[in-house]
Amino acid sequence: MPKFSAVRKHEIQTGHRVYGHEGQCGNLHGHSYVFDIYCLANSLDNLGMVIDFSVIKNTICNWLDDNYDHRMLLWKDDPLAKELVCLDPSVVIVPYNPTAENIAHYILTIVAPQVLHNINVKVTKVVIKETARCSASCEL
Ligand SMILES: [Zn+2]
Repeated sequence: MPKFSAVRKHEIQTGHRVYGHEGQCGNLHGHSYVFDIYCLANSLDNLGMVIDFSVIKNTICNWLDDNYDHRMLLWKDDPLAKELVCLDPSVVIVPYNPTAENIAHYILTIVAPQVLHNINVKVTKVVIKETARCSASCEL
């Protein structure tokens, strides 16, 4: 059986810190995160596509723009989170320690099913590039 994929790239600027990390990742800092969002299908629609790329843009990419772009992601268990969110409402408290792996897992398992709930396509992998040399992914 053939396997088709459609991949949409999206970039956002986001701050974070990895709570508990003893090196520089424990400092408040930011990245130009580049997401690769993979949709897979065993068959194509009437037009010959897995999904119209604009659908990925209008769902997952818009969600990222609205919720994470130019924001600071801090884990709910990070003591700094509750302090900083009072001073600056652009801080986003997330239910996970915001490593690239955990961001990818959240987008794949929580956000994608939520924003694509009535669309017949499955997001099966999210790759997040933090720097030119480093990326992490989560795959179903
Ligand atoms: Zn970082």
